[in-house]
Amino acid sequence: MQDMSSGDATNGIVPLAPASAARIQLAPGAVVSAIVRRAAAAAVLLPALACVAGGSDVDAGPADVAGEAEATSDAGDAGPDRACGPARLGIRPVLYLPSDASLSAAEEGRAVDLLARHLELGRTHFSELLVADTFCVEQPIVHRSPRTATEYQAAASPDSAHLMAASLLEAAGQDRNGSRDVFVAVFVRPPDLPCGGERPCLGGGRTFNGYPGTGGGIVQLEITSLLADVPYPFQSTLVHELGHAFGLVHSDCYGEDLALGRSIMSYNPEHWSVGLERSATPGTLLPEEYFLLDGNALAFPSFGYEAAVHNPTGRPLVGIDGTCELAPMDASLGPLARAGYELFFDGVRVSGPDAQFYTRGQARESCAWNVANQPAGIAILCLFDGARIGGR
Ligand SMILES: [Zn+2]
Repeated sequence: MQDMSSGDATNGIVPLAPASAARIQLAPGAVVSAIVRRAAAAAVLLPALACVAGGSDVDAGPADVAGEAEATSDAGDAGPDRACGPARLGIRPVLYLPSDASLSAAEEGRAVDLLARHLELGRTHFSELLVADTFCVEQPIVHRSPRTATEYQAAASPDSAHLMAASLLEAAGQDRNGSRDVFVAVFVRPPDLPCGGERPCLGGGRTFNGYPGTGGGIVQLEITSLLADVPYPFQSTLVHELGHAFGLVHSDCYGEDLALGRSIMSYNPEHWSVGLERSATPGTLLPEEYFLLDGNALAFPSFGYEAAVHNPTGRPLVGIDGTCELAPMDASLGPLARAGYELFFDGVRVSGPDAQFYTRGQARESCAWNVANQPAGIAILCLFDGARIGGR
């Protein structure tokens, strides 16, 4: 099972409500009581966070064991260039090889070529939907990780998405905040470790830092899907996961039926592709999704939401206030530069470190709860990324 605040697990059948896991632990009002509990837990949590931050151990990646080989990415002699420029989000195709998986040079070449063709097709799809703009694609890389496929398979906290993202960022010399890459990582397995059954297949997408326009992200896909559409159709899944990596959640958050929706962010089988053949009825975008992609100027610098074009029936948009939003990836990926949610009582910050990883919707919910339930004599201030979102 993937992190609940990410995109999809397995073949796209498991409906993963955006940020639902976080919502469970973040019932309104939990912020303050969690602080008390966190005082005891801090002794455990803080050393781990300090390690993530790097400290003096410059060579060790966030989750690497000392003495392990470093991850490397082959990007030809030129290294991981930036065809998309330093400021624009670039989609980075990655063939992701655990230490116990290998492909011949010819197989690697074929896989990288096929991935590039799929990205071009996905780019065409977004281009048709947005008309004005589409995303930029970087040169592919082959990433060799010191971890085994079994380690990724067994990873729970941090999960495989966090481990893979950390390894890719390290090899690229980037951090979560400054990265402008969406890594589309196609996971290669050793022949004796196929996914399925006891071994859930990787499949998902998310942003490193939260809502649209906050930087890079990661998409995880299985190589069997790339080569044979097993266990899920590659092209249509790629488009869906890229949507997550651009900051979109599932379309049921906007009221669509996931099984029947017209959005690329639904699970409608009528959108499914076969190889490089797109469905005759590919997914589209909802008004809310157009609106949110307009907010991702790093990915789509010249796309602009126009109500008359993107919401011709003029229906009220739902969930664009942060309710339908992916949470940032957790602290195992390194410190988050954004302030996120902060709650103050009488001028004193009472929110714990977890609050930084709230979505805007969760922050509003917590703020409203505290305003309604804290004793009247307490002055309350709620900030999100430094801006006031509520209080009294
Ligand atoms: Zn999804």
